This record gives sequence, structure tokens and C-alpha cells, in this order.
Amino acid sequence: MADTLQRLTLLESILGAVNLGAIVLDENRSIVLWNRWLERHSGWKADSVLGHDFFEVFPELQQKRIESAITQALRDNFQSLLSQSLHKSPFPLYPQAAVSSEGRERMQQAVAVTPISLPDAPRHCLIQITDVTIAVGREKLLREQTMVLRSQTFSDGLTGVANRRHFDVAIDKEMRRARRNGSPLSLLMIDIDHFKDYNDQYGHQQGDACLKQVASALATMLNRSGDVLARYGGEEFAAILPDTVPAKALALAEAIRKGVRALSIDNGHEDGAPRHITVSIGVATHSGTAPLDMDQLIGAADRALYQAKDGGRNRVVSNASHRAPPA
Ligand code: GH3
Ligand code: MG
Ligand code: MG
Repeated sequence: MADTLQRLTLLESILGAVNLGAIVLDENRSIVLWNRWLERHSGWKADSVLGHDFFEVFPELQQKRIESAITQALRDNFQSLLSQSLHKSPFPLYPQAAVSSEGRERMQQAVAVTPISLPDAPRHCLIQITDVTIAVGREKLLREQTMVLRSQTFSDGLTGVANRRHFDVAIDKEMRRARRNGSPLSLLMIDIDHFKDYNDQYGHQQGDACLKQVASALATMLNRSGDVLARYGGEEFAAILPDTVPAKALALAEAIRKGVRALSIDNGHEDGAPRHITVSIGVATHSGTAPLDMDQLIGAADRALYQAKDGGRNRVVSNASHRAPPA
């Protein structure tokens, strides 16, 4: 007898010490056990809830998932775990000792409802509540960090446009699509002229600011939803233009060339005359009539860019035709 009493006292102490909420209901759904953890987090002493109907204490839980879970445990001897993502905070429980619940957020809860079969008495059920606030918060933070990292992986840290990695993925995807649909795909290689001079004259930091300004202007001019502007290398950008025939690509390149010149960013003097930041652009197109593979397309745009530089800079050259507009 003394042994049984001791064991009961021990069990009671354990129930008081565990770091989760334990509610036991009898076959009539009356509360017969309410542990200390629940007192701490609800602010309700055991005396005030013991012997009361569960739904009298928690009227808001009527007709909720937990009611069917209790019925299934008591009637069908069936255990339920309430999905945390669907039932975030069913009980009015708060992370710290609850004195008043006003203005405080409920703890995030994981709830399990388990039937308890007794040898000589009707079935009871145990409701276990675990505080998962910290785990949920950590998961949210991780998810947010993953999103940030993912966007950083594909964008250039200085200018914010797509980076080379993004370019490689995008051009591959667009080449496949162009081949599948038999649609034209154009590529512009855009390189800032005499940028070394700019750096030498104004310093690297202002050089960075200039790169940002040019990138932002390019992005504004390439605003069709399928276009991808990427920083291809130091002061070189690439624009992928899906569904774009050579004439249209050339016209767009020409508009870009003029747009950058119109920024009127000083770049020192040449032969006594003021010089502005300009770009040279090489254009190439993959089309049904002139199909190229990816390396050939990039190579053709690169060669056209080289010709634009060779021809005096601040100009557009397409792999099909040469244009040499005046400054
Ligand atoms: P060109 O007209 O032939 O293209 O002449 P360029 O001076 O622009 O070309 P060059 O390849 O000789 O020099 C490129 C310069 O771009 C040198 C390099 O310091 C600068 N550059 C590359 N990346 C960055 C960057 O991230 N920030 C800054 N400030 N400068 C950069
Ligand atoms: Mg350059
Ligand atoms: Mg360059």
C-alpha cells in the first residue's frame, strides 16, 4: 500500500515536472487531470478546471478538429496528431507564465490526443500539448534566409541585375525554348567603353557607382518580361532577348547605346574634347534560318562586340550587318 502511494506521488511529481501540457479527460469529457505546465501557461489553476467539462473550459474548441480527435480517442480508441501547420495555436496558452493574456501572442502548439484504456474503468483520453514556438520561429527564419540566399546566388552583388550564373542558366533555357518553338533568340553583348580610364580618373568606388548607374539604365530599357539582363563580367553586360528577330534586336541595341550616352556621365577628355561614358554592343541572333548552338551564339555576339570596339566604340554591330552611327 505504501508502495502504491509512493508510486502515485512519484507519478504526480513527474507529471508536474514534464515540459509539456497534459490534460486527461474521462469518458464524459470532464477534466480529471491538469498538470503544472498548463497552470503556468494558461494562468488557470487545476482547482478551477478539474471536474469541469472540457468544452465548458474551452468553448472556442467546439466543432474544431480537436473535438473529433477527442471523440475518436474515447469512442474508437484512435490516436490523433493535430498537424501543427493547420492548427497553429488551438489552446489559449502563452509562452511565458500567463498572468494576463492581453496583447500577447499564443504559443505555437503541437497537439496529440491519445486514448488511455484502463482495466476496470471506461476509456479516458490524454491531450498532450507541446510548445513549438521556438522551432516554428527557427524554421521561418531558415526559410527566409534560404530565400535571400537563393536570390543572392542568382543576382550580382554590386548592380543587382542577374549574375553570370543566372545568365548561363537562362541562355540554356531560352536556347531550348527557341529550338522547340522555332522562334528567334537574340543576344546583346554590351561593354562599357574606356572604363579603365574612368576608374583611373575617379577611383574604383566611383567606378562602382558608375557601373550601378549604367546597369540600372540598361535594366530600365530592357523591360519586356522575358528579357534577361545579366552582368557578364567586370564592365560587360549581356541581354538575352527571346522572340526577337535581328532587326528588332538591332533597334533595341541602338536605343540602348543612345540611352547610355544620354546619361552624360563624364569620362575625362580625349584629344581635348569632353568624353562621356558610352557602350559598344555586339548583336547575334539564333533563328530558324541561321541556327546556332549556344557557344556559337555567344561567340557571334562577342565577335560583333569586338568589331564595334575596333570600329571606334560607341556603336552597335550585328553579326549579320555593320552599323556605325555617329557619336
Ligand atoms: P574598352 O573600351 O576596350 O572596353 O576599354 P576598357 O577600359 O573598358 O576595357 P579594359 O578591359 O581595358 O578595362 C576594363 C576595366 O573595368 C578595368 C577594370 O578595373 C574595370 N572594372 C571591372 N570590373 C569592375 C568593377 O566591379 N568595379 C570597377 N570600379 N571597375 C571594374
Ligand atoms: Mg570596356
Ligand atoms: Mg570588357
